[in-house]
Amino acid sequence: MDQPNTMGCVICSRQVSLRACSSCGVHLYCSPKCQKEDWKVHKILCATWESFKQPPAGRVDLRRVIVFEVSQPVVRFAWVPVRWIPGEGESYDNPDVSGVLEAREGGRLGGFALCNRNAVRNRYMKNPLMINHRDAALLDGSPTNMGVAKHLPPGKAAGGRGLVWKGPLIVLKSQSEPERILNVDLRDFRDVADWLAQWVLGLA
Ligand SMILES: [Zn+2]
Ligand SMILES: [Zn+2]
Repeated sequence: MDQPNTMGCVICSRQVSLRACSSCGVHLYCSPKCQKEDWKVHKILCATWESFKQPPAGRVDLRRVIVFEVSQPVVRFAWVPVRWIPGEGESYDNPDVSGVLEAREGGRLGGFALCNRNAVRNRYMKNPLMINHRDAALLDGSPTNMGVAKHLPPGKAAGGRGLVWKGPLIVLKSQSEPERILNVDLRDFRDVADWLAQWVLGLA
């Protein structure tokens, strides 16, 4: 269902002299320079790729997502079930993120932002990322997201300014017509990291 991860260097999008990361074997770089630039972000999930390449046997209903834990400094892959909801006009995949949410969220989130362009690297995403969050996370007293704060601290991205991410952050990948949920892969994580940096800059 996913696009193969062959769309060029994850940093500069160049298509020449591509070599894969020797650890995960899938992340492509055109040069050691680009690999070095990516490593601080890529290393967070690189080593766990092996155990998340395939869903647990027999589970065709699961999709790979990225979870930024709220109360622990952890970013990780996880599987969430999706259910196909057939409709007269519209049919769609309905993801159930309750299993990766902390208890205080009550099993659901209200809001999401669509990330369909990486402005840092000037590329569009064929399948947009859905950055799921609690609706009013900035205003409702939600705690600081420790996963973001530890691994993708906004202070650095925004030159010491900027907002701190509050509450849960779960990254899904979507496809329209038909509306399906796809697996998030390693490459998407670079786009999430760049999006978070942009988000901070945009609101600072
Ligand atoms: Zn490159
Ligand atoms: Zn790797």
